[in-house]
Amino acid sequence: MYCNFIDGKWVEGQAVSTNINPSDTRDIIGHFARASEAQAQAAFAAASEALAEWAAWGPQQRSDALDSIGSEILARRDELADLLAREEGKALPDARGEVLRAGQIFKFFAGECLRLPGELLASTRPGMTVEITREPIGVVTVITPWNFPLAIPAWKIAPALAYGNTVVFKPAELVPGCAWVLAEIISRARLPAGAFNLVMGSSREIGNVLLNDPRLAAISFTGSEGTGRKVAQAAVARPGGMARFQLEMGGKNPLVVLDDADIEVAVACALDGAYHATGQRCTASSRLIVTDKVHDRFVAAMLAKLPGLQVGDARNPATRIGPVVDAAQLAQDVDYIQLGQREGAELVYGGQAIAEVEGKPGFYLTPALFVGASPAMRICQEEIFGPVAAVIRVADAEQALAVANATPYGLSAGVCTTSLKQAAQFKRGLQAGMVMVNAPTAGVDPHAPFGGRKGSSYGPREQGRYAAEFFTQVKTSYINP
Ligand code: ADP
Repeated sequence: MYCNFIDGKWVEGQAVSTNINPSDTRDIIGHFARASEAQAQAAFAAASEALAEWAAWGPQQRSDALDSIGSEILARRDELADLLAREEGKALPDARGEVLRAGQIFKFFAGECLRLPGELLASTRPGMTVEITREPIGVVTVITPWNFPLAIPAWKIAPALAYGNTVVFKPAELVPGCAWVLAEIISRARLPAGAFNLVMGSSREIGNVLLNDPRLAAISFTGSEGTGRKVAQAAVARPGGMARFQLEMGGKNPLVVLDDADIEVAVACALDGAYHATGQRCTASSRLIVTDKVHDRFVAAMLAKLPGLQVGDARNPATRIGPVVDAAQLAQDVDYIQLGQREGAELVYGGQAIAEVEGKPGFYLTPALFVGASPAMRICQEEIFGPVAAVIRVADAEQALAVANATPYGLSAGVCTTSLKQAAQFKRGLQAGMVMVNAPTAGVDPHAPFGGRKGSSYGPREQGRYAAEFFTQVKTSYINP
């Protein structure tokens, strides 16, 4: 039985959840404690108590702690990648990449502890100076989804701690194993009791406390748009003052392929962006917007490559596409594939659920490619969150840009072109937080800001030094010597 970590102690919950391997549903990964409301409240009490001691540690000691966490993640890369593949279904190459990223993020923020920025301004009043400093905000609730069970917690927890805040971490119900191992690694850094707390469990049982506890100062959330709205409403309505909140939600990311694109590069970007990590990335390229002149060549090249993406057990080294995360997500993917056909798009590859691979029962789905899709179809407007992509044929670059921007989302967007002029125009014109030129829409660096526009995100960017915008509060001091 894997326990919650509250106030520096491992504690059993009010109930137990069992976690299964989506590549082989007979394989039970473990039994995980589900926290009660009272335990979640105890976590906030402990996090609030720990603020003073954590602040007293000072930047060097905090930096050393985060550095040791990063080192352990990196040293255990193979073991953690295996757990991630087993629990979430991410194929090993993707899982190894995620573990590396989680380790690098802790290392980056270990450095940031010692680089807390400030500013000195001249005052309009003679003799006076104005000093601008950054302080911790307080207790941060960290709520994360299942699709990056190590990297997303890392990119919220590491900056929260680096800038002197304390954390109550609630991972997604489907991936307690990765969350527990991360907590175990953090526990070995011997932070003050309560500086970091893990409360696993159901959002139905403890969601209310996680969003409304009067001791929390901020909520950093990644997940669905519907839950994001609930977080925002709770943060604004919270008794005892509004909480700060940061939301990362969905995407419907376009990859534009222009007349002058290198088709080999475009196909590599599309295959990676649409299908790697089983398409379960908020930055996945689910809309492939291709100009008329190269459309048929692009589709033919995709069809030639798709059979090379082997579907199977995420831990099999030959596998490129692991299973979908669970039965509910698989049903949603299959529903969307059927909807696309009813809407009039042509399914030219894949889209079949497979009940068993090599005798292992799992949530397998072959990567699906539609052609003849039009921008207004629901499969081109709504986030599917599976290995499903639709090709939209457009006349020219101008139409491509208009179609690329025609969704409620704006997380990531890509363009494949060999023209510097076109690249510059798309870089300016794409309504997205991140723009990729001749690169997949998914896959970002651990030290660069991450986030989107329109319905994809709310609040300051995550990662890199931009994380300080959310995880610190500014103080302006006037000094008359
Ligand atoms: P996903 O489709 O990625 O599972 P969700 O928005 O349902 O997206 O879940 C993302 C995270 O938000 C999960 O950790 C989930 O437990 C949590 N969550 C869902 N509903 C609530 C809620 N009402 N209060 C707090 N957390 C919630």
